[in-house]
Amino acid sequence: MIRTRFAPSPNGLLHLGHAYAAVVAHDLARAREGEFLLRIEDIDGTRSRAELVPEILADLEWLGLKWDGKVVFQSARLASYAAAGERLKAMGLLYPCQCTRAEVLAAAQAEGPDGPVYPGTCRDRAVDPEGAAWRIDMARAVELAGQLEWVDELAGPQRADPAPFGDVVLLRKEAPASYHLAATLDDAADGITLVTRGADLFGASHVHRLLQALLDLPVPRWHHHGLLVEADGRKLAKRRGSPALADLRRAGEDGRALADALREARFPAGLSLDPGLG
Ligand code: GLU
Repeated sequence: MIRTRFAPSPNGLLHLGHAYAAVVAHDLARAREGEFLLRIEDIDGTRSRAELVPEILADLEWLGLKWDGKVVFQSARLASYAAAGERLKAMGLLYPCQCTRAEVLAAAQAEGPDGPVYPGTCRDRAVDPEGAAWRIDMARAVELAGQLEWVDELAGPQRADPAPFGDVVLLRKEAPASYHLAATLDDAADGITLVTRGADLFGASHVHRLLQALLDLPVPRWHHHGLLVEADGRKLAKRRGSPALADLRRAGEDGRALADALREARFPAGLSLDPGLG
């Protein structure tokens, strides 16, 4: 039995790109008589907005996408993130970092898949752990884990290569866990066997595969789907005028017809699918 999930962050209203991601996750599960879960990634204290959750649920119902079981909230799982953090600390793989974002930007010498790579400023110095972020010592972690593989259904077998990400943050100052740690732990806790998400997050799966090895978690398969893009090739964004699903819903548009159009690659005017790496 396969189990997929749609895992939106309630930082803004969903747009057509989210609708496409939800349709892919839902349909892959249904086509294989599997389950489709909904997980709300609501642990970013500075950006997450609880009032958007009912909008997300209503959007999915409007699209005709029914999820199985109860909605999962990351905010209910903080203890599991902290426990995994302690375990990685005990393995000597995390170090505290007090650098500000501006300091990281100023010191970074390389550009990684996620932006500027942290140059390791705090790795070998005494740092007050109080209120610090905790970064993974990537070189040490990669050495400990050894060679790892993972499989993307569209792109084929991959050799895990998390090193270009550098010492990413796993426990954050302003949020209990970073996306990488929380998503990896949750996919395991939720029994997700097929992780579906946009090809823009393809690289993150290298990091997640590493965390699975370090924390003895089961290894799913992945399906990184293409991204809906504007005519200029850029990802959809509400701030650039992509309509929110909630607005289309309130305007009386037919959500099921929209979901069918996305399934059949009949995209709204001006939009196309960038296959990315998938
Ligand atoms: N919360 C993430 C997002 O909205 C989900 C990424 C994932 O599916 O792993 O981009």
